[in-house]
Amino acid sequence: MSQHLRSLLLPELTALMGELGQPAFRARQLYAWLHKPARTYEEMTNLPRALRQTLAERYPLTPPEIVRKQVSKLDGTVKYLWRLSDGSCVETVLMRYSYGNTVCVSSEVGCPMGCVFCASTLGGLVRRLEPQEILDQVLFTQLDQGEPVSHVVLMGIGEPLDNFENVLRFLALVNSPEGMGLSMRHISLSTCGLVPKIDALAEKKLQLTLSVSLHAPTDEIRSRLMPVNRAYPLEQLMGACRRYFSATNRRISFEYAMIRGVNDSPDQARQLLALLKGLPAHVNLIPLNRVAESPLVPSTRPAVAAFQELLEAGGVPATVRRTLGGDIDASCGQLRRKYTQEHSI
Ligand code: SAH
Repeated sequence: MSQHLRSLLLPELTALMGELGQPAFRARQLYAWLHKPARTYEEMTNLPRALRQTLAERYPLTPPEIVRKQVSKLDGTVKYLWRLSDGSCVETVLMRYSYGNTVCVSSEVGCPMGCVFCASTLGGLVRRLEPQEILDQVLFTQLDQGEPVSHVVLMGIGEPLDNFENVLRFLALVNSPEGMGLSMRHISLSTCGLVPKIDALAEKKLQLTLSVSLHAPTDEIRSRLMPVNRAYPLEQLMGACRRYFSATNRRISFEYAMIRGVNDSPDQARQLLALLKGLPAHVNLIPLNRVAESPLVPSTRPAVAAFQELLEAGGVPATVRRTLGGDIDASCGQLRRKYTQEHSI
């Protein structure tokens, strides 16, 4: 079990407080402070001083530090680059929608998946995040903004299902009524398609929204864009999506980054329709964000519109994602990449 107190669920914290000779209500007080979030034990004024000292010695709080914070002049999107206790950096993005504030969190430092269009994976995986390091991104963004966060998306740096246990624990923490109490229905988890882990997630029957990064309607193209497709080709992936739907009754969201001349033709829209046949789905069309190291370019507006029309006409709801934070490197991994290159880390 992780020794960081913010990674513990209330029953675990209660057991730990018991070992320290403390009553259960102390655990509830401490849990509330940890999720407030307090930066120091000094702030926890309703806890006995001696207990605060013991905790400070044994369980340092290590809040993340803001290295960079960029605010979009276009739409108020805020991007944070945090430094974690070991010096690693991760990104978090706050997006303002009419229905509330959404925080997009990272689940790993770097990413092992190797998708060719993605800045997060260029340097490979450095390490997986601890549960509290994922939670801290939500809590400290909320603290810094002084505004409530109502939605969380696991769509930042990393592959959440490659960090399965820690992500599940993060979900339990952020969902806990004694903590933020965020509804699972307000949480989305995005995966590149790790089939066994999609099945394992289905077994948990959570009410979150599963997003699958599809990006191509055929194995030939998908394997070129996403190495994970060589391990779990489309037939297997779609099988897992069907099983996921049967288990949870939750409609799946498919992400589709539109890349000029690669995956954006009318024929490919029809192939995508065939692939999704019979599965309650929603497709998010995202014009590719340009990544400096990659020759791939976004589809033209008319190509995106035509693709969307074909999907809709075929009975699959499709939305063209509004691009937020276009002026602040707000897409996946770009800010961390820039920073680590500038500082040679
Ligand atoms: N590893 C997870 C979540 C992180 S990425 C996943 O693969 O789903 C969040 C989304 O952004 C994914 O759909 C990813 O494929 C997409 N993405 C990454 N780089 C992109 C780019 N340059 N342009 C558009 N979308 C991109």
